[in-house]
Amino acid sequence: MDDLLSRRVRASPDATALVDSQSEREWTFADLDDAVDATACRLAELGVTADDRVGILMETRPAFVRLVFAVARLGAVVVPLNARLAPSELVAQREAADLICLVCEGDTEADALAMAEPVPVVSIDKPQSAAVGHLPSVDTDSTTVTPVVRDPTDPVALMFTSGTTGAPKAVRLTPRNFLASATASAFRLGVDPDDRWLCPLSMYHMGGLSVVVRSALYGTTAVLTRGFDADTALDALHEYDCTGVSLVPTMLKRLLAEGDLPDSLRFVLVGGAPTPRDLVETCAERDVPVYPSYGMTEATSQIATATPREAFEEPGTVGRPLLPTEVTVVDDGSPLPAGEVGELVVAGPTVTPGYDDPDQTAEAFGPYGFHTGDVGYVDEAGKIHVLNRRSDRIITGGENVHPGEVVDVLRSHPDVETAAVVGVEDPEWGERVAALVVPAEDTESADESGLTADDVRAYCRDRLAGYKVPRTVVFVDSLPRTASGTVDRAAARERVAQATDL
Ligand code: ATP
Ligand code: MG
Repeated sequence: MDDLLSRRVRASPDATALVDSQSEREWTFADLDDAVDATACRLAELGVTADDRVGILMETRPAFVRLVFAVARLGAVVVPLNARLAPSELVAQREAADLICLVCEGDTEADALAMAEPVPVVSIDKPQSAAVGHLPSVDTDSTTVTPVVRDPTDPVALMFTSGTTGAPKAVRLTPRNFLASATASAFRLGVDPDDRWLCPLSMYHMGGLSVVVRSALYGTTAVLTRGFDADTALDALHEYDCTGVSLVPTMLKRLLAEGDLPDSLRFVLVGGAPTPRDLVETCAERDVPVYPSYGMTEATSQIATATPREAFEEPGTVGRPLLPTEVTVVDDGSPLPAGEVGELVVAGPTVTPGYDDPDQTAEAFGPYGFHTGDVGYVDEAGKIHVLNRRSDRIITGGENVHPGEVVDVLRSHPDVETAAVVGVEDPEWGERVAALVVPAEDTESADESGLTADDVRAYCRDRLAGYKVPRTVVFVDSLPRTASGTVDRAAARERVAQATDL
């Protein structure tokens, strides 16, 4: 593989590679290839050569796509940085990644300057400060570079994880990882030469970057929006007759509240967090081809993906692993049989060769592969159920309780809309299981539905081991959530503490 784009251009130069919904511009693969060449020349002039790490600090836009392929063409490593992080967080990533330069845009120039020193900064827009160089975003000189042929197992990208469980980790990803991920995904979702895949996710997250790289490998069209806004995304889906879209669950919820999705859509890939049961049910009612998916940066996005039929039949599952990916449930170093809960361990060609930090790599890999830090089980049919993170585990009286398992039981109660389960300090048991319960909408309040903490506990006792039954049950109108829509566990513990103090 020379770079991620060169062969595609030879195979289908006139196919549409990229659509920018904001400027309404389109590029064929031949156009994109020229622009990538021009960008690669500018980067080479700046001194970028093979193996150098080039940081990108910008939101999704066509220039971002050009840069990704231009950096690859020089045999260098692209390092997309999260434009929403604070300067101190970015400084840590700049140091960890050992950047040779940082490319920004007008909107991120101030942040780039605040974090980059001593690394030079170039802007693809006109620089506002003398300290920032200019990397023209238009094809000014038609010069070309010779693509650097690299080993398919050398890193082409360094992606940071989201930092949910600690500081974000720098993940090395290779051309082989991207190719395997694109192939594996195509075996589950299919590829049509006329596919148009909308990418409202940021390209500094795996879900966003993978849409762009896959579309280039498939020879299909990536449609970009700058950031996510339900109204704009829905317009773009209709306007460009999109056939696919990648989203996180909260985005899908907002899209469905905004209006109907176009009939052109053949897949709605939803991941990054559990797809709530009621969202899957809404998709079933409204004929939305939803594919709930489990993935992560270290696996170049998807690990397992449920088809709409699987999701509608069983809303809690993320389906079977993609074709080349192997998932083993491990506890205490040994694989567990179907149905038993343990850590999900993944292996296969989409899995990173490792983090940039060898200590982190040594800690994460074992005989069965990469330890995800996620807890779940594989059912008898081979479908995966992700329950929660290992770090969310509650230890009560020496027994492990996985909150996701208790949440599943609580949610199955007809008078419960949703619930969160956390551990709170307990003088006797170390930790005690506590639940925040949101009563179902049609039951006006906990009092009116007659649902009491005792009822909830009795319901759980019939379905769970005694130590897993929530000792404390607090009724709330809604669950505390983080900016990304996941349950805010610290706030949930706080809420339990408040209620029990009363
Ligand atoms: P960090 O590794 O720095 O703590 P992170 O794990 O949140 O951050 P990502 O790689 O962006 O970083 O996210 C992957 C994680 O997202 C998975 O390990 C898993 O915990 C969660 N996740 C993804 N899809 C699902 C899903 N369908 N159901 C439950 N959790 C999911
Ligand atoms: Mg992680």
